[in-house]
Amino acid sequence: MRVMAQMAMVMNLDKCIGCHTCSVTCKQAWTNRKGTEQVWFNNVETRPGQGYPRGYEDQEKWQGGWALSRSGRLKLKAGGKWKKLAQIFSNPKLPELDDYYEPWSYEYENLLNAPEQKHIPTAPPRSLLTGKRMSIKWSGNWDDDLGGTYAVADKDPMLKGLEDKVKLEFEQTYMFYLPRICEHCLNPSCAASCPSGAIYKREEDGIVLVDQDTCRGWRMCVTGCPYKKIYFNHRTGKAEKCTFCYPRIENGEPTVCAETCVGRLRYIGLILYDADRVTEAASTPNERDLYAAQRDLILDPFDPEVMNAAERNGIPYDWITGAQESPIYKLIKDYEVALPLHPEYRTMPMVWYIPPLSPVVDVVKDAGYDAENAVNLFAAIEDLRIPIEYLANLFTAGDVDIVADVLRRMAAMRSYMRDINLGGEGDPMIPYSVG
Ligand code: SF4
Ligand code: SF4
Repeated sequence: MRVMAQMAMVMNLDKCIGCHTCSVTCKQAWTNRKGTEQVWFNNVETRPGQGYPRGYEDQEKWQGGWALSRSGRLKLKAGGKWKKLAQIFSNPKLPELDDYYEPWSYEYENLLNAPEQKHIPTAPPRSLLTGKRMSIKWSGNWDDDLGGTYAVADKDPMLKGLEDKVKLEFEQTYMFYLPRICEHCLNPSCAASCPSGAIYKREEDGIVLVDQDTCRGWRMCVTGCPYKKIYFNHRTGKAEKCTFCYPRIENGEPTVCAETCVGRLRYIGLILYDADRVTEAASTPNERDLYAAQRDLILDPFDPEVMNAAERNGIPYDWITGAQESPIYKLIKDYEVALPLHPEYRTMPMVWYIPPLSPVVDVVKDAGYDAENAVNLFAAIEDLRIPIEYLANLFTAGDVDIVADVLRRMAAMRSYMRDINLGGEGDPMIPYSVG
């Protein structure tokens, strides 16, 4: 057993209101400069929807990128020919600018300087790349207005085969938000695809970074990352990605996105994992077993054997106690309510999600704030407005039962808390509770 420490994040999707504060504060901190206009280390996607960049989950479209990068790397090492080099430069597996969006601002001065006219002057969009006026054809969250209808059904690859579950009635439509950062994977394919060896996973805390001095702008990492969470800076010609705000983490502060999150839905912490078993877990034959394989890599930080092995591997004692106190371990391992995004990509992602219950109001109200009853109501889990198969396609490679268990647990917890806080039996452990 080789125990290593990893920074990880859990996000509770029930609490995300899609305010984009996290994205904006992250951009202000990290990518508010020329060359990174379309770069969102943190973005918040509308689901159902196409995601950002558009269609990144359509792995068939991007398939082969990693293999191409491998062969490119081998040829180059062997002193490869210009033909191969040209093939690498024209890497066909990259998202194009239209898959991100053409960045723009508005002509605000027009509001003040427009000549007198019959209508109120407008502030038309102007491209930040060409400086010319433009019409906006697409951008992230374009799907907001479509709210889970047929208009997005044929564009969201995770809705494939679920067309009959798409709700058309206004009262039945649904939408939720999926905030995304780099997954700081245990098995990062971005690093594996880099011909220059510029991408590395930090020994001490598992944060994945790009060495800007070593990066040669091959962009194989953009192709190789199945989450498309690594971006190309068109000014510097280098790759850039979420840094998990490592200077803040080293200072004992949370990431900017977590600190500014309006919904307080981001939990950050250290976990301990067995580095010797990562490759084996990533090679688990059945996709639906990958979630369990990934969860099993996380070690019990209270186990004396694990604590000893961690110390032997140079992990400081206060980091081990940090892992013991971390909410991450509890949410992933004790309560088993946090799930990885697309475990079938096999990179062992370390950002985990508690799937959304919404809309749960009716269920909890009908249950009379009774946790047991809420669980029973969820027996008819297929009646939930968000198709459970859709959530399963996002978080468990299609295993509906795992998602159903998580939702039942969350419904029971919520019902219990409402019982305490909204006039049911008072919890003697909570002195301020009503009841
Ligand atoms: Fe690399 Fe992508 Fe994993 Fe981030 S999400 S570590 S960029 S493979
Ligand atoms: Fe969601 Fe928090 Fe980001 Fe707002 S700040 S969009 S609540 S993750």
